Amino acid sequence: MDNTQEINYSVIIKNNPDKETLYLVNSYWSYKKGEFENKPKQLSNNYNISLHDLFLTIKEYSDVCLECNCGACNEILKQEVTSQTHFLSTLRNLPLCEECIDKQRLKQDEENKRLIEIRRKEHELAEIKYQQQTAFNSAIERYKETRIHEDEARFMIHFINTCPNRISLSYYNENYLNFYKLKLLELIHIEENFANEYVVISYPEELKDLLLCEIKQESLASKPTNANTWSRLSFLLEKNKTYRNIHTPRFSGTLLIKEDVYLEKGTKCLYGVWDRDHDDAWLTLTPTSDIIVAKNKPIHKEPEHIANILNRFLDNPENRDY
Ligand SMILES: [Zn+2]
Repeated sequence: MDNTQEINYSVIIKNNPDKETLYLVNSYWSYKKGEFENKPKQLSNNYNISLHDLFLTIKEYSDVCLECNCGACNEILKQEVTSQTHFLSTLRNLPLCEECIDKQRLKQDEENKRLIEIRRKEHELAEIKYQQQTAFNSAIERYKETRIHEDEARFMIHFINTCPNRISLSYYNENYLNFYKLKLLELIHIEENFANEYVVISYPEELKDLLLCEIKQESLASKPTNANTWSRLSFLLEKNKTYRNIHTPRFSGTLLIKEDVYLEKGTKCLYGVWDRDHDDAWLTLTPTSDIIVAKNKPIHKEPEHIANILNRFLDNPENRDY
């Protein structure tokens, strides 16, 4: 409110003050050009009364009603004030009319409702995420116990890499066993829509990495990269001292393998058994590829029958390790 604007207010004198008091009251409430003409301090000095007594006198002998605009609309309000300070602070912070108070309350209510709704949704999403994560964590636990096969993992990785989540029913049927296994492990979720002949497959983001990790482990387990290559295995076969007939083994005992030996499927081996003292025997096992390489004669260049080479290898004292 600017100072030049005329302020309307009414001073009602009550309780029949004497002339001097009446003059004091009127002086106290005289407001012109945006300010009170007489400050309380000044009046208390002039009239030789304390500030406290001044305020009591003003309160006792006057009722003041200030007219001002509503702080939000043009509605004119009447506001009772009891002191200059009250009068000025009312002008600085205009009160609101009832209609505007209602509007403001309504607006605040809506804002509160909106915030509550936002928080509710956030909570709901967090809850869903938590449940999904919990389900996935327990699926991982089960997965550790029920390993899926490498080809099943490869299928799913290929699916994740190349297929949309929504697939045709026929593609789903073709690969039903793969999907079903992953579903049993709760690693994927399947939503079948038979009426519209499509299926939606959903899975957590981490699934691909998990499957990739699984394949790496399987490959590692099936083909060690740093496995020792071997050229011969030799064993002492001890005579079975309780040998009775063909139903008991001629040799028996235990042996301890001292290092990792990788026996690849399809490796053709030559075996030989030699007599040893005390009716024991000596068994050797040699990959035939090693024999050929050692002699530096590949099979296709070797004119002799393979049996001759193998027999000569076994007969050669240089090839004996006992
Ligand atoms: Zn208003």
